[in-house]
Amino acid sequence: MFSRRQTTTSIGNYWSQIKRLKQETAAADAIVIGAGAGMSVSAGMSYSGERFEENFSDFHKKYGITDMYAGGFYPYDTLEEYWAWWSRHIFINRYDTGAGKPYTDLLELIKDKDYFVLTTNVDHQFQLAGFDKKRLFYMQGDYGLWQCSKACHNKTYENEKSVRQMLARQQNMKIPTELIPKCPVCGAPMTMNLRCDDTFVQDDGWYVAAERYNDFIRRHKKQHILFLELGVGGNTPVIVKYPFWQMTAENSKAVYVCVNREEAFCPQEIEKRSICIEEDIGKVIEDILCFKTEDSMVY
Ligand SMILES: [Zn+2]
Repeated sequence: MFSRRQTTTSIGNYWSQIKRLKQETAAADAIVIGAGAGMSVSAGMSYSGERFEENFSDFHKKYGITDMYAGGFYPYDTLEEYWAWWSRHIFINRYDTGAGKPYTDLLELIKDKDYFVLTTNVDHQFQLAGFDKKRLFYMQGDYGLWQCSKACHNKTYENEKSVRQMLARQQNMKIPTELIPKCPVCGAPMTMNLRCDDTFVQDDGWYVAAERYNDFIRRHKKQHILFLELGVGGNTPVIVKYPFWQMTAENSKAVYVCVNREEAFCPQEIEKRSICIEEDIGKVIEDILCFKTEDSMVY
């Protein structure tokens, strides 16, 4: 339904956008946050560079893997290696970390509003920051959960204890064979509960969260609603970006916000009710929190 022409609002008027964003946040009846990987990158959870080398230089040397995205999908020869990789990956991104500042600042900004968070992130940062679990739908999985690799039943399993064992006992990029987790129902190897293909298990909690999200959207459909898209990349636009555009177009009281360091844009049709900011998410949220509306900032 949208024209091919898309608009990026220039960052030249940054402070006027911050002001508008602050006013819209205050005025909104409800806020729907759609968060992607850029949010965690802004929190310092980079999957490449120094943070990668510190934890995976041996995998880099042996397999030529240069970032954590690639390493997670690598077809390792053995399950011992697969779990040596994943136990480290899960540990540093899920258990050995606190809530990032962009997350705690975001909660500070919206905590008194009627809000809901839809996220493709699987690193548990929203929970760590203290967002209300009942206002959260992490639809692509969670690093803290495993499932049967054959998806023989719709249940997920918490993995912290096993992950810590794997981490402590691995050598030469391999965990001991007896630590390979098996499905308690069919005996197949367990795997990550991450949406990579059609074996992704949606457990009871997933369906409850999905229903809460749909219900939230239904209840606020005709209201002054703020769609706040943060760090959503181009890989999965059908989850957050396109629905946010669509719902903004259908509701004349809705406002669409896109904050993305790489590319912030919107379709022309909703341009007047959109705020696009190409800047670091953490900085933008900090600036909104600090901005005094009476300030005579340059804009
Ligand atoms: Zn099974």
